[in-house]
Formats: sequence, C-alpha cells, structure tokens
Amino acid sequence: NDVLEWFETKCQGSKELTDRARSRIPGGVQHNLAFNHPFPLAIDRAEGAHLTDRDGNVYIDFLQAGGPTILGSNYAPVNDRVAEVVRESGPVTGLFHEYELKLAESIHRFMPHVEMYRSLGSGTEGVMAAVRAARAFTGHSVVVKVGGAYHGWSDTLVYGLRVPGTYRMNAKGIPFGATSATREAFPHDLGALRRKLIENRVRGGTAAVVLEPLGPESGTRPVPRDFNARVRELCDEFGALLVFDEVVTGFRVGMGGAAGYFGVTPDLTVLGKAVAGGYPMAGGVGGRGEVMAVFGSGLDGRSGAHVQVGGTLSANPLSCAAGYFAIEEMARTNAPVIAGRAGDRLAAGLHRLVAKHGLPYVVYNQGSIVHLECSGVMLLDMHSPIKLLRENKPRKRLMEQMGAAYTANGIITLAGSRLYTSMADTDAVVDDALERFDRVFS
Ligand code: PLP
Repeated sequence: NDVLEWFETKCQGSKELTDRARSRIPGGVQHNLAFNHPFPLAIDRAEGAHLTDRDGNVYIDFLQAGGPTILGSNYAPVNDRVAEVVRESGPVTGLFHEYELKLAESIHRFMPHVEMYRSLGSGTEGVMAAVRAARAFTGHSVVVKVGGAYHGWSDTLVYGLRVPGTYRMNAKGIPFGATSATREAFPHDLGALRRKLIENRVRGGTAAVVLEPLGPESGTRPVPRDFNARVRELCDEFGALLVFDEVVTGFRVGMGGAAGYFGVTPDLTVLGKAVAGGYPMAGGVGGRGEVMAVFGSGLDGRSGAHVQVGGTLSANPLSCAAGYFAIEEMARTNAPVIAGRAGDRLAAGLHRLVAKHGLPYVVYNQGSIVHLECSGVMLLDMHSPIKLLRENKPRKRLMEQMGAAYTANGIITLAGSRLYTSMADTDAVVDDALERFDRVFS
C-alpha cells in the first residue's frame, strides 16, 4: 500500500500521460522491459546512471534500456560525433555510407571471427537472417534452439516453443507451421542436444544450433563453463553451424563478447543493442566470410547463393556512426570492464543484503549483468525445467510487486529481476542503490 500510495502522490504526470496513451496506443505502452505496475512511468531525461520522470523523480537506472547503453545513458561524446555525421548526411540516404564499413571493420577488430557483417534493423532481424543464412549455406532446414532462450519475436524462434516448463511467450497469431523446422533442446543438456542432432540427421541434417552463450534468457540460467565448447564440438560432428546470439553479451561481457570470454568461435554471431550504442536500428549478423557470402547481391559475380535480407532504414549513417563511435569509445574507456566491476560490487552488496534480511533470493552476475531472482528454483532446478513451470506464476507476481517497490525507492530494474550496470555506475551510485535495496528488503 505504501508503494501504491507513493505512485499515486508522486507520479501524477506519468499517470495522466500514460492514461491518455491507452486510447491511442494498444495497451498504453509499447515497451515490454520495465514493469508497468501500477502504471508506466513517462521518462523525460536520461543521463549517465540516472533517469528523471515527468514529475521530476530521479531514479538509478539499472534497466539501461535493456542493455545497450554500456557507456551510460545519453553519452555526450558519442552523441556529439553522431550529430556531426547526421548534420552532413542526414539520418538516411538509402545509398552506401562510409560508416557502414567503419562499423564492420571495428566489429572485426574486437571480434576477429566476425569477418563480415551485415547491418539490419534489430536483434530479432539479426537472428532471422542468421537462420536463413545457415539454411542456405548448409542446405538443411532444421534449426535447434535451447528451451527458455529469447531470440526476439520472430515466428520461427519464439520463446519456449516446445520444452515444457520453460517460460513461454504468448504464441497467439503464430501458425503452427511456422515452427515446423525449429527444435528445442532442454537447457544445459548436451545429451538432449545430441539426440536432437541425431534425429535431424535421419531427416537430412541440422542447419544451425542457435544459443545465447551465457545461457538462456541471457544467463538467467547460467551455462556450465565448458558448455559452449562442447556445443561447438557437437556442431562440428553433425555439420551444423553454431550461431551465438550475442545481442545482450556483445561488447557487454567484454569487447570480444561471450565468444571471447569463453574462447569459443561461432560460425555466425548476432549483434544488437550495444552495436548501435543505444541508438535505433541496432542489429545485424556477422561471421565467417564463406557463410556471410550468401548475403552477397550476386551482382559482384563472386557470391553464389543470394539470401534475401533487407530494410529501408538498415545500415543507415546514423545507426552505423553511433555504433562505430560507441565501440571505439567503449574500447578507449574500458567500459565493459568498468561496468563489470560495478556489477560485481552491486551483486556482492545484494548478496550481503539478502543474507542480512534472510530473503529467499539468489543473486549472481556475469560482470555487468546482475540477476536477482526471488527464488532459488531458477538455479537449483536448472536441470529440471518442469519445476520451473509450477513456480512461474507466483514468482512473476512477486517480482512485479518487488519491481514496483524498487521503483518507489528510486531504482529501475529490468522486470524486477535483472539489473544492467554501465560505466556510469560509480561506487557512489552502487552504494546509493544498495542503501535503497536495504530499505525495500527491510
Ligand atoms: N536475442 C536476445 C538474447 C535478446 O535479449 C534480444 C532482445 O532483448 C533479442 C535477441 C532481440 O533483439 P531486438 O529487441 O533488438 O529485436
């Protein structure tokens, strides 16, 4: 009740605006990342580690737009340089622009296995293109994903497709046939993955294994340390391509992404979020030159297969320049490491608070990706996804209430259970946040 009262008295401006939105925007909100309970906040300003809403309330921002702003929000050194490019060329021309190449070169510098890169409009599009390329290159149709993984909202890879017990996205509107060439393996189960690959071999073969290298839903259920290397071996054995969905992890767990962290080389890498430095049209696919050649126009007389991808606004100067400058700046400032240290400090502090208050939480992090799960089930039962199904509903409700309580105490998280840190999260910011968590927990 305290929390609801806080929203009612302190957030009237947000309430009025988002109430009005309900008549013109389906459901009133278009972003699914932050909790909208009891109603969505309208954010007017973002700077560094903080957000300010319409009513002037200031929040520590651990949503970080869902991950892209590793340098901190609204980072002026990148903004200024992007503005210069846009002043010259405008945001889009539909023709080739120098920054397309600069971005691809820059990605290659930090991720040498991304020999070629195709800019697209989003992480979702990047995964769609990766799947299409893998099918064209191998001549096989079937792709295998991991239960509970999120690869965007395309028809073929929609969340939690077949594995009972993994979290499901609402699959209404997706025809059954759309997923007929998609298979799901239980998370972390190499035996199950091998069985899928054997089943597919009987029917021809597997085009690709697609996975989030930190574990499904970007590390909510973390993988054992050697998991990706074993999957690489399986892919080689069965002639399938290995696709890393690094939409979250690319540049966040290090400039070399999760591939660099685990020392495993995928055939294709999907990037998003940070690859446009928090600017729009963040996404694309890159990888081995001979696979990426399938995207060639065919007009150069060299590329054989022509796999269609497109997008009126893809590879535009604004997004490519933003990505290029952000990547250069992340490398110059060591942003992934600094953000990672902030994540370590936050996770260690949360760990202490959870113990102090005797709460049934599990806290774990991979650098700047911090998980605050309100039940041990996610970790303890990661080999038994069936149990997760039973836990999900009450867990979701509790997380929603806790998310609102964090917000009322000046902290914005991703859905109450994930916290992204950025380079702007100084020790003082993290310690301020921990004091606020202490208040909420008590
Ligand atoms: N893959 C992963 C692992 C993601 O977390 C997301 C988005 O959160 C996507 C793909 C989809 O990217 P986008 O939202 O840019 O379409």
